[in-house]
Amino acid sequence: MEKVILIKYGELSTKKNNINFFLKKLKENILFALQDFDVEVTYDLGRMFIHTLSPDKVIDRIKNVFGIHEINIGYIIETTELDIVKEEVLFLLNKKEFTTFKVESKRANKKLNTTSIELSKNLGAYILKNKDGLKVDVNNPEILINVEYRMNNTLVYFDEFKGLGGYPVGTLGKGLLMLSGGIDSPVAGYLTIKRGVKIEAIYFESPPHTSLEAKNKVISLARKLALYNNDLILHIVNFTEIQEAIYKNIPHEYLITIMRRMMYRISAIIASQRNAKLLVNGESIGQVASQTLTSMSAINEVVSIPVIRPLACFDKLDIIELAKKIDTYETSILPFEDCCTIFVPKHPVINPSKEKCHEYEKLIPYKDLIYEAIKTHEVKKITAKENNDEFKDLL
Ligand code: ATP
Ligand code: MG
Repeated sequence: MEKVILIKYGELSTKKNNINFFLKKLKENILFALQDFDVEVTYDLGRMFIHTLSPDKVIDRIKNVFGIHEINIGYIIETTELDIVKEEVLFLLNKKEFTTFKVESKRANKKLNTTSIELSKNLGAYILKNKDGLKVDVNNPEILINVEYRMNNTLVYFDEFKGLGGYPVGTLGKGLLMLSGGIDSPVAGYLTIKRGVKIEAIYFESPPHTSLEAKNKVISLARKLALYNNDLILHIVNFTEIQEAIYKNIPHEYLITIMRRMMYRISAIIASQRNAKLLVNGESIGQVASQTLTSMSAINEVVSIPVIRPLACFDKLDIIELAKKIDTYETSILPFEDCCTIFVPKHPVINPSKEKCHEYEKLIPYKDLIYEAIKTHEVKKITAKENNDEFKDLL
């Protein structure tokens, strides 16, 4: 009997024609998460297995891999012979403390000439006969004994841990996340990775108006996201000249609108260079002046690439709860200024007109500035593994 980690992949099993593509990617991502472990990953008949000598450490590591719906410790018995299965299950149960149980059987091997219900009854009766003080409880058992009769072997498992669900990262292409140091954008990134989209991120900095700490904070957030994304390419764009040109030449109520149009333009170009099929950001309807429907429409107008806003309909409190869950919140609330917060006008326009945007943008040589910003931008590969403790005294 071999002790293995059993992975169930829930929703993926509905991908009939593409299932192998999804499973191949899931296996690849699991191996990436476990690159410093000696493991083997196999799959067949709707189940994936990790063969390892240190299951507890492995489970801890793969908890963050999307596409895994349940993780179990499983036992593979090298036969479907009922008498042997009974003995082995009893052997496993002898190590556990419980008084009520239920047996649930599945037959991937339809050649077995009994039904699943009969198999469960038969094994249940054997357990009752050979172990004292037990009762069957079909509604609320202390132990659920899952037995799956497969082609040449039988799989037994008891405990179940919930995985994160979602799709394996990389199965749905690539997106570019606009990552600020705030609370929202890391959460938007997390939700997008969960749908199988591998992300790269883009951050606009305005030194010396924004500090090195602000940039390091974004790198820390990128590192947290890299944990789910395998690793993460971060594009750091120097936005100072563009921002100063806007500040000097454009009526202040339009500062944010025009600034965001420039961010969108640059993001769309870098997305296209990187073969990313969509932009992702942390906008949420109504949260600030630049996130009214009229504002979003005036800003969105400058790009044709789809823009996904996973938090569009989330309340701030729900976003905060998720940020805490994925461990980005404490970093996000560190008090370092963002390039938007420095140039915030007193009265930003709530319903900007597109005509005025066109008119004002003629006042600055934005094409040249954008060209220069893209040409000189910094590209950093962020891995989840390096432990970033730049802020350990603050956290
Ligand atoms: P967040 O909490 O994510 O910073 P916010 O509520 O502060 O969002 P805004 O500042 O209006 O809202 O930004 C909306 C979105 O625009 C952000 O969620 C992010 O996706 C993107 N964004 C804002 N500033 C930057 C920046 N400096 N670099 C990259 N993306 C940015
Ligand atoms: Mg922000």
